[in-house]
Amino acid sequence: MSSPIVLVIGEHRNDRIRPASLELVTAARELANLVDGEFVVAVAGSDIGHIASEFANVEGVDRVVVIEHPSLAPFLPGPWTGAVSSIILQIEPFAVLIPSSITGRDYAARVAARLDLALVPDALTLSIDEGQVVAHRAVLGGRVQTAVRFVASSPAMVTVAPGAYSRSVTCEHAAPIESLRIAVNDRDTRATLVDKTEHTAGAKGLTGANRIVSGGRGLGKAENFALVEELAAVLDAAVGASGATVGAGWRAHSDQVGSTGHTVSPKLYLAVGISGAPQHLVGMSGSDHIVAINRDPDAPIFKIASFGIVGDLFEIVPALIGQLKSTVD
Ligand SMILES: Cc1cc2nc3c(=O)[nH]c(=O)nc-3n(C[C@H](O)[C@H](O)[C@H](O)COP(=O)(O)OP(=O)(O)OC[C@H]3O[C@@H](n4cnc5c(N)ncnc54)[C@H](O)[C@@H]3O)c2cc1C
Repeated sequence: MSSPIVLVIGEHRNDRIRPASLELVTAARELANLVDGEFVVAVAGSDIGHIASEFANVEGVDRVVVIEHPSLAPFLPGPWTGAVSSIILQIEPFAVLIPSSITGRDYAARVAARLDLALVPDALTLSIDEGQVVAHRAVLGGRVQTAVRFVASSPAMVTVAPGAYSRSVTCEHAAPIESLRIAVNDRDTRATLVDKTEHTAGAKGLTGANRIVSGGRGLGKAENFALVEELAAVLDAAVGASGATVGAGWRAHSDQVGSTGHTVSPKLYLAVGISGAPQHLVGMSGSDHIVAINRDPDAPIFKIASFGIVGDLFEIVPALIGQLKSTVD
C-alpha cells in the first residue's frame, strides 16, 4: 500500500510565496511524520515555474506538483474550485491543508461542497487519533478550545489559521517537481474578471509591508490617527486599522487588518489602542514581532504580544516618536 499523502495547496501572490503557506509546510510535515506519509505541495496558477522551484527548496517538502492554467490567475473562485477539486481527485490525499486566507476560505468551502467532504476551518494544531486527523481550534473568542476528529470523510480537509505554526525555511535539498493536468470545465468559468483595482494602504501597501503601525478605538476619534501616521512615518511603516475604527468611518476598509480585512505578517506589528479581538488577531498573529500599547493590562492583545506597554497611548506614542526621531537625527 502506498504511504498516505498530506497535500498543501501553496498560495502565492505578486510572484512570491505567501508566508502563510510556509506555515502550512511546517504543519503538513508534522502531520505527514505522524502517519509516516509523504508531503506534497500543489502550486496552481499561470506562469508559476519559479514559485514551484521555490517550494521545492523549502525544508520538509517531499514533492511539488504544478498546475498551470490561464484561468487560474488572477484568482477567481470558479476555476480554483475546479482545479483544487481535480488535484484532490488525482492525488487522493489523506489530508488537505489550505491557508485560512481570504482566498483559501473561499475556495476551500466550495471544494468541500463539490466533493462532499467535511471541512474544519481555522485549525490551530493538528494531531492523529485512531488513524484519523484531529483539528484543534479555538471558538467563542478563544474562550473554548475544541478538538474535531474526521470520521468517514476522506481526505480530511482543514484550513489552518495564520500564525498557528512557525514558517519553514529554505534548504539545499530540492524536492522533485511534476506537472499535473487539470480540466477546467464550463461551469467553473461562468463568471470572469473584467476589472481589478487594488487599494493599498501607505506607500508600500499593507500586505507587503515589513512594518505596520495599526490604530484602534483607543485613539478616540479619527483625527487622532495622525499620531499613528506620524509613528508609522518615523518607522517607515504602513498604517493599518482595527475593524472598530473602520466601522466608525475613521479609516478606509482597505486599511483593515483581521478576519474581514487583510491578513498580514510583517516583521514588526505595532498595535496602538487595539484590544485584540479574535477577528483582529486572526489577521496579524503571524507577525514576527508584535508590540502592543494599551492602558488595560488585561487586554487580550498582550497575550500574543512580544512586547507590551501598559499606559496611555497619548503619552506613550508622542514619547516614542520623540525618542525614535532623536535616535535617527
Ligand atoms: C463578523 C465580524 C468581523 C469582524 N472583522 C474584524 C476585522 O477584520 N478586524 C478587526 O479588527 N475587527 C473585526 N471585527 C470587530 C472586532 O470584533 C472588534 O470589535 C474590533 O477588533 C475591536 O477594535 P478595537 O480593538 O480598535 O476596539 P476596542 O475593542 O474597543 O479596543 C480599544 C482598546 O483601546 C484601549 N484604549 C482606550 N483608550 C486608550 C488609551 N488612551 N491608551 C491606550 N489604550 C487605550 C482599550 O483598553 C481597549 O483595549 C469583526 C467583528 C465581526 C462581528
